[in-house]
Amino acid sequence: MPRPARRIESVPPYLFAEIDRKRREVAARGVDVISLGIGDPDLPTPDFVVERMAQEIRDPRWHRYPDYEGHPAFRRAVASFYRRRFGVEIDPDREVLALIGSKEGLAHLIWAYVDPGDVVLVPDPAYPVYLTQTRLAGGEPYVMPLRRERGFLPDLGAIPTDVARRAKLLFVNYPNNPTGAVADRAFYEEAVAFCRQHDILLVSDNAYSEMTFDGFVAPSALEVPGARDVTVEFWSLSKPFNMTGWRIAAAVGNADALYRALGIVKTNLDSGQFTAIQMAAAAALESPEAEAFIRRMNAVYARRRDMAVQALRRMGLDVEAPRGTFYLWVPVPAGHTSTSFATLLLEKAGVVVTPGIGYGPGGEGYVRLSLCLPDERLQEALDRMTAQVRIG
Ligand SMILES: *Cc1c(COP(=O)(O)O)cnc(C)c1O
Repeated sequence: MPRPARRIESVPPYLFAEIDRKRREVAARGVDVISLGIGDPDLPTPDFVVERMAQEIRDPRWHRYPDYEGHPAFRRAVASFYRRRFGVEIDPDREVLALIGSKEGLAHLIWAYVDPGDVVLVPDPAYPVYLTQTRLAGGEPYVMPLRRERGFLPDLGAIPTDVARRAKLLFVNYPNNPTGAVADRAFYEEAVAFCRQHDILLVSDNAYSEMTFDGFVAPSALEVPGARDVTVEFWSLSKPFNMTGWRIAAAVGNADALYRALGIVKTNLDSGQFTAIQMAAAAALESPEAEAFIRRMNAVYARRRDMAVQALRRMGLDVEAPRGTFYLWVPVPAGHTSTSFATLLLEKAGVVVTPGIGYGPGGEGYVRLSLCLPDERLQEALDRMTAQVRIG
């Protein structure tokens, strides 16, 4: 067997695969392990989407190769969602590209822009894809620390000018995985201005725009006047419609970035998502039931969030209640690292949480809990943690 390319060695094992291995080890000892590890909705895709899929799958037109850029009906549905939801006018023919999930699009956008030695501005902690794909492409990640004192927003003013000058991409992700932090319009204004000044493409990963609580409404980066000159936003059906398994999302924004860069990688690599799935996704976006469904889901997550925050605070953990996402970003007790605390919870309580270090060095000192499990299981996990784990 030949040795894999050197770039493969630049990538640590995918975090969730590693956690899964540890979980199986403990489960093999007969422990009923409860996972608060993975951000993947536990509730099913709504019927109004599943029923539509059942019809679309019978249409022989969809049994052939899909359109590279996505079916026009899907692109139109995304554009009208952006108009309704964000007040942003999008040209469905030039400013929307269908993706096989936004992870695919985020990764390939990096391949479309990054030559060896190019700088990519990556938050820390962050969704691991930005950093690992930058490394695979031979780029130089420049890490922007996200700190609690700044509401987990990057300090763009602290980026040295010579770094900004060499940078091609700036990644932002709000509501944020893993911290649960949110950003307001003013933050995107600052980010757009920064990217204009330094000729950088702003990449807004807006996977959680619909998952917010306590009356907070998440903006789109594209709401900022002139944003589309320098911005691509990734929007996914995965989280709002419980459709992670379907692999359907869209890239929205700058037409050149979509059709002269990302689209070039994609046409030479994949052949698009199954059109039946795109049609079902369009139906999801356009359904009169969509808004109420999302509201119900957010009520479920808000209830779980409150259960968990209350229990964790009683354990002595200084956790904030997030206004977005289904994650809690929990500071570990004194004397622990993120890994030692995660290991303790797994071994003593049979509960899987994600060590913050898995999201970058800036995640040290935290663990991430996700709320993607039934209330009873969550309560059981919290009870076990309360009983088994002595803090302070
Ligand atoms: C879940 C998630 C996504 C969505 O990924 P899909 O590939 O669309 O399922 C994107 N970004 C972040 C930060 C996420 O947590």
